[in-house]
This record gives sequence, structure tokens and C-alpha cells, in this order.
Amino acid sequence: MAQDRRKLVAGNWKMNLLRDDGLVLARELAHREVAARRIGGAHLACELLVCPPATLLAVLGEALGGSKILLGGQDCHAEAKGAHTGDLSAEMLQDVGCSHVILGHSERRSDHGESDAAVCAKAAAARRAGLVAIVCVGESEAERMAGQALEVVARQLAGSIPAEMGAGDLVIAYEPVWAIGTGRTPTVHEVGEVHAHIRERLAGSVAEPAGVRILYGGSVKPGNAGELLAIGDVDGALVGGASLVAGDFWAIARSCG
Ligand code: PEP
Repeated sequence: MAQDRRKLVAGNWKMNLLRDDGLVLARELAHREVAARRIGGAHLACELLVCPPATLLAVLGEALGGSKILLGGQDCHAEAKGAHTGDLSAEMLQDVGCSHVILGHSERRSDHGESDAAVCAKAAAARRAGLVAIVCVGESEAERMAGQALEVVARQLAGSIPAEMGAGDLVIAYEPVWAIGTGRTPTVHEVGEVHAHIRERLAGSVAEPAGVRILYGGSVKPGNAGELLAIGDVDGALVGGASLVAGDFWAIARSCG
């Protein structure tokens, strides 16, 4: 079934870039994407998504217009509206042109104490607003060392995904916490093992489990993307640092084949 899942390469800009630099990066990516489609046979084998800070969503929506690059948020609130100072609803993201939202990133889980239940409520909100939820899971280094990686990921999946989600509204990102921003990655065997485990756990808990894309995230760079993206059940990448450099993000996308 893997051939039915088009790869997705998503850039998580996190809390980086002011308007001018964000626009330069987005325009460069849009230019490359449009040019690649014009040149027969050079178009990308994956979908591209950028998730900038909320301050840049509106201007990036315009800068990416005309390209097929998708726009996503980095978080949303579970409620549609109300007295939640500083938060954004899934409906607001959808209104500004987003198609996706990253949820339960390890930095949200650690900086803001987000529980699986909170992520689950946000994923339900994303579906309500018509967004695809990219639900992040992944073990800490201590958990990996203790041989608990599969168990931790299974627990996070069970707690973070609402009932009735399916391939049309859910993407999973496996992001070992110790690999994020460190330059370290799990071995090919370790990534394959966790992704296969996630695929197994999705069966029975979501609709069309074979169609749900499972991304790998954690120090994906041009130099290791080809190897990581070739692993079975790796359906794309969630990219942090390297997504801030147009040439690097593009090279990772090109590694999809
Ligand atoms: C991330 O934060 O989602 C991430 C994968 O970061 P990096 O690529 O910088 O490790």
C-alpha cells in the first residue's frame, strides 16, 4: 500500500524568521516548485508543506500562491473561539489558508506541558475545521536507553488520536526527542522498527490505517534524507532546522525520488 501514499515533506520553522526573511525563503521555494513543474519530468515526487510562525501565515499564503506548496500552523487551541488569550483556533488557521496543523510537537509537550489528552482534543478541533492534524510522537533519550521507545510511542498514539480519524485528516510524525535539533538520528533499523510499530497500532484505531502517512522527524538534512526516506513506512519528513534554508529543504524534497 505504500505506493498509494505520496510522500510529504513538511518544514517546521518554529519561532524563527521575521517577515522579510520569511518572504525571501517562501518565494524561493515557490519559485523552485513552479519551475520544477514547468520542466517536464522535474516535478517533485512529494507534497511540500511549510509551517511558519503564526505572524507570517497571511503573508506566506500570498507568497506561496501560484505554487502547490501547502501552508500549516504549528499548534491550535481545542476550542473554535472564546476567551483564550494568545491562542489560535483551528478555524482561524483554516481561514488564513492552512491545510495542516502540527500538534503535540515535543517542544509544545515540554514547554507547555501538553498532555496526550490535550493533543487529542486539538486533533479533534483540526478535523472539525477541515485541517489535517500532524500528530507528533516520540521517546526521550532516557526512554530509548531503557528500551521503552515502542511502548512510549504506542501510549502517545493511543492517547493523542481521537476516534474516527483516518487517512484524510491525520498524519503521524515520529520524532525521537533526542534527535530533534541535535544532529543525531536513530539507525535505519530503529526508524523502520518504530514506523512499522506505528502502522500496526494505527490498524484498529483509525479508518484506512494503510493510507495514513507516517513522517520521520529529527535532524533530517540533505545528507541523510535519501537514506531515511527510503525506509519502509517512512512517508516523508518533518524538518526543523534544515527547512530554514531553501536549498537544504529543496534537496530533502528532491530525495523523495
Ligand atoms: C522538529 O522540530 O520538528 C525537527 C525535526 O527539528 P530538526 O529537524 O531541527 O531536528
